[in-house]
Amino acid sequence: MRLILLGPPGAGKGTQAARLVQKYGIPQLSTGDMLRAAVKAGSPVGVKAKAVMDAGGLVSDEIVIGIIKDRIREPDASRGFILDGFPRTVAQAQALEKLLAAENMKLDAVVELKVDEKALLARIENRARETVAAGGSVRADDNPESFKIRLDAYREQTAPVSAFYASIGELKTVDGMAAIDAVTKAIDGALAR
Ligand code: AMP
Repeated sequence: MRLILLGPPGAGKGTQAARLVQKYGIPQLSTGDMLRAAVKAGSPVGVKAKAVMDAGGLVSDEIVIGIIKDRIREPDASRGFILDGFPRTVAQAQALEKLLAAENMKLDAVVELKVDEKALLARIENRARETVAAGGSVRADDNPESFKIRLDAYREQTAPVSAFYASIGELKTVDGMAAIDAVTKAIDGALAR
């Protein structure tokens, strides 16, 4: 199973991806997680990406495409993967098509979580509160200023990615405003279609 989860920040992609990992036994490939790990490790990619990420902007296509190219070739991804947070631009989506063709891989589905944008800021604030309550540290970009920029980046650069997959007949849309279990069920239904 090779799957892309699309949707704005705070739509619940990470939560649903974790459930799909359990169900299908395939890894979640989150470019956000990989970039945060690079920042933490102080690698050259991390050093380049940090300021852009903290501000809520998008890291260059070149960097994230390079990360994904290496990652999908790793042995644990041979049976499939769930892409979470990638592709975020049409150029990334086109690069992914090429990468997959070169590896003789095919996407099984692109699932978009549709959400009411007005509810997203509240979700992000809630995520920050829950993380603190659990003793964790809040992501540097989970604050209202960066969030607004992340949402703008989504509208301008990532919303067209949905249109790209719709145009090639691969997009399935699910109501991301429903309760977490109901969204999981809707994704299962969409994958069975
Ligand atoms: P996320 O955890 O998916 O919300 O990603 C956190 C941040 O990492 C984003 O706001 C971007 O700065 C960066 N990022 C993650 N994935 C990508 C991507 N595919 N393209 C560009 N930037 C990305």
